[in-house]
Amino acid sequence: MAGMEAHEHSETWSPHTVAVKAGRPDSQPDQPFNQPLVMASTYVAGGEMEYGRYGNATWEAFEAALGALEGGRALSFASGMAAVAAVLDLVAPGETVVAARHCYQGTLVQLAALEQRGLVKVVLVDIDDTEQVLAALNDDVALLWIESPTNPALEVADIAALSAGASAAGVTVVVDNTFATPLVQRPLDLGASVVLHSATKYLAGHSDAVIGAIVTRDDQIWSAFDQKRRTVGAIPGTLEAWLALRGLRTLALRIEKSQSNADELVRRLTDHTAVERVRYPGFGGIIAIELADAEIADRVCRGTQLWVHATSLGGVESSLERRRRWTSEPTTIPEGLIRLSVGIEDVEDLWRDLEQALLATT
Ligand code: PLP
Repeated sequence: MAGMEAHEHSETWSPHTVAVKAGRPDSQPDQPFNQPLVMASTYVAGGEMEYGRYGNATWEAFEAALGALEGGRALSFASGMAAVAAVLDLVAPGETVVAARHCYQGTLVQLAALEQRGLVKVVLVDIDDTEQVLAALNDDVALLWIESPTNPALEVADIAALSAGASAAGVTVVVDNTFATPLVQRPLDLGASVVLHSATKYLAGHSDAVIGAIVTRDDQIWSAFDQKRRTVGAIPGTLEAWLALRGLRTLALRIEKSQSNADELVRRLTDHTAVERVRYPGFGGIIAIELADAEIADRVCRGTQLWVHATSLGGVESSLERRRRWTSEPTTIPEGLIRLSVGIEDVEDLWRDLEQALLATT
């Protein structure tokens, strides 16, 4: 990439090091450490960039870093949903998409809209049931949509087994890796063709930017996404790409702290009388707890001071939300399920605040 430092060690470095080093300007005297914000709607003719909708050095720095982390070539988009739309556009009219029943509700809404318009057929599956998913991959299927862990049911898919089966059936596999991040799993290494991120969440990590991305090793797929982004114009904001790259630098530290906080909270929540079920994949910073009903769950969401009652996740700030407050959430998600996004605050402060809100319901 022009002007972007190439690292001969990047294949052997730990992802923690890659997150810090990738996507920086050449290490030359008086060069800044970090890619500056390039605010430009157009460029002097004769180069590769030409126009602000076609390319931007700040996007490219974020894409270089994310691509290095996932082991492919990245392209950033206006949001995770814009990236979802670009991937679904790969599906030709009349083809079938097999998708996780509990993937992000916005993805389900896009799929349902396409199906309603007669453009695709959608088959929903339990993504943690490998046999069931593989059985659904018939000749009409073009795309397998994996999300792992799922949002907010936290089911975990066997990405390697599903990718092997999909490849044998000629089905393209996309993995929404928003929850796990490339520090936990690299779907391209496990056989997937495309990785998708709502970079809004853990990658940016500070609840201040909406941005999405896809990553692939397939040049044809990458070019199709690039073409789509150029023509539809679902480009990221320059500041958002800069913030996402800034956030990425501390991803390893944030994930480590969120996860150790989550591990401890899971231990305590499991023993709590008000909590009927705790869902936790054993990694990452997202926990789902099931309470008796919607009213009790709503009271807990309103009863915290440190935990913020808000949608979204993956920020340094802990937040919580009853997911069924959204009418588009699948009805197979329990009414009393609260999704906890565990941040990097002190775990004792988090527990005290959550415990008093749970106690107030009993
Ligand atoms: N994928 C997952 C797993 C998500 O949780 C979200 C948003 O919550 C999205 C995709 C959509 O991303 P965005 O909100 O950045 O458009």
